[in-house]
Amino acid sequence: MFHERSEPLSELTDLYEQIKSCQKCILSQGRTNAVPGEGPQDADIMFIGEGPGFHEDRQGRPFVGAAGKYLEELLETIGLERKDVYIANVVKCRPPSNRDPQPEEIEACRPYLDKQIQLVHPRLIVTLGRFSMQRYFPGASISRIHGQAKRVGNVIYYPMFHPAAALHQPRWRSLVQEDILKIPDLLARLDEIEEEEPEIPQAEQLSLF
Ligand code: URA
Ligand code: SF4
Repeated sequence: MFHERSEPLSELTDLYEQIKSCQKCILSQGRTNAVPGEGPQDADIMFIGEGPGFHEDRQGRPFVGAAGKYLEELLETIGLERKDVYIANVVKCRPPSNRDPQPEEIEACRPYLDKQIQLVHPRLIVTLGRFSMQRYFPGASISRIHGQAKRVGNVIYYPMFHPAAALHQPRWRSLVQEDILKIPDLLARLDEIEEEEPEIPQAEQLSLF
């Protein structure tokens, strides 16, 4: 038991070390610190943002600026604290002047996020903003699909607006607040479904709401 647990823990730490010294894309050139992500290895919920901003780059930690403060407030409304969830990003190094991450940068960084998801294996993956949404809902429009969960195997994928966008767009704020409030129900629904039909083929998808 102890052995099982200690192995993946060090794998996650190894992954952080690889990310910190990574030079696979041009974003390595402008960073102060890479931001691997953080949170408990056994987290049920993983939030995936876009990439580090100014403060994240300085501190080497995800969501520590204004968007992070807002994310913490949102979590509080469903009785969660930051330490209860895993927080990652699509790219681990800050794009210059906070520009959008480019497709080749997202691609170069993809194996790190893939590995993180594999090691943490969350039950609910919440995508924050367009870039992480595209991983699971290619070609979708966030204003259409935010707040609509998709289940694949025993993982739920749940797209939300990015908290930074919601901070600047008052009309998105109430949508973000509504969407976060559905999370406890989603997890409860997943419990029910798993009891009803535990053997789900990985490829099957179904809409929960
Ligand atoms: N915005 C993101 O997408 N990620 C962070 O870590 C911080 C702000
Ligand atoms: Fe490596 Fe990702 Fe940083 Fe690019 S963004 S240098 S792929 S860790």
